[in-house]
Amino acid sequence: MHRIGVLTSGGDAPGMNAAVRAVTRMAIHSGSEVVGYEHGYQGVLEGKGKILKLGSVGGIIDDGGTFLGTARCGEFREVAGKKKAIKQFEKDGVEGLIVIGGDGSLRGAQGLFDLGFPVVGVPATIDNDICGTDYSIGFDTAVNTVLDVISKIRDTASAHERVFVIETMGRTSGWIALYAGLAGGADFILVPENVPETIEDLTDPIIRGHERGKQHSVIVVAEGAASGMDVAERVQEKVGREVKLSVLGHMQRGGAPTAFDRILASRLGAHAVELLLANRGGMSVGLVGNKVSACWFTEAYSHGKELDLEILELAGILAL
Ligand code: ADP
Repeated sequence: MHRIGVLTSGGDAPGMNAAVRAVTRMAIHSGSEVVGYEHGYQGVLEGKGKILKLGSVGGIIDDGGTFLGTARCGEFREVAGKKKAIKQFEKDGVEGLIVIGGDGSLRGAQGLFDLGFPVVGVPATIDNDICGTDYSIGFDTAVNTVLDVISKIRDTASAHERVFVIETMGRTSGWIALYAGLAGGADFILVPENVPETIEDLTDPIIRGHERGKQHSVIVVAEGAASGMDVAERVQEKVGREVKLSVLGHMQRGGAPTAFDRILASRLGAHAVELLLANRGGMSVGLVGNKVSACWFTEAYSHGKELDLEILELAGILAL
């Protein structure tokens, strides 16, 4: 391929820039030109592509967000939108595309591939809910952001003998809450995949902890499991201590990517180029057992990546 396109789409994730850098430099190294499209599929439909040179992606490996911008694009969901995109690629001389984004973006990529256009996907979402990879780009940074908050809140919680509820992102998946909760020594982790049947299932371990002299308790709640406000009110009623709530929101998407995310993005971005240039479109790259690999798009987004309930159980045991 003489020229390939790259875009970032859907929810932004730290490490997207490192992935665009890897795609661009690997492609140029392999003898191809690169066109970067602004604002995801929307930018393709609007003809907003620009040639990326080696220097265009300089100094961005440590930046959060995505310098290409990202967007959600309704028109692209329709077949007519995808055909229009392919016309634009023809006009730009772009022969293949690399899509960096979450499950919705990979569905869109599959749609293009179904119409005969070569596309390779790079999983980037803080939710870590894409199959065919142990981790998606941005997840590790989001976990570290939440962990930082847990550590700070633990200091103030212990000073005041309070219970803190921390609500994290994760509408359908509890990966962020689980990893940050385990790393932060949370007393209880509430995830959508395993909501306790009764409030006592949650409060009994907290009360037991207080009875043996624990100064503070931290409960991490993924937004999809329950509202943090609701949990805080119910726990306060049962435990009889003041419960404070911290809802983290969009800060979890921001920040400089961790070393892990930069390395992941570099490896996956480069591998995506290798696959595209080898004419192996229709696939989403991933890291499995610390080796780069790939699976079909359909497998990547078919079902949310299952939460590892063994890790959740371990977190419960270690919080005893
Ligand atoms: P994410 O990639 O983070 O999951 P979205 O679900 O919003 O984010 O998807 C990003 C974009 O991908 C959408 O705005 C749309 O243009 C495209 N897209 C999402 N789902 C589909 C689909 N089923 N078919 C075609 N395009 C889709």
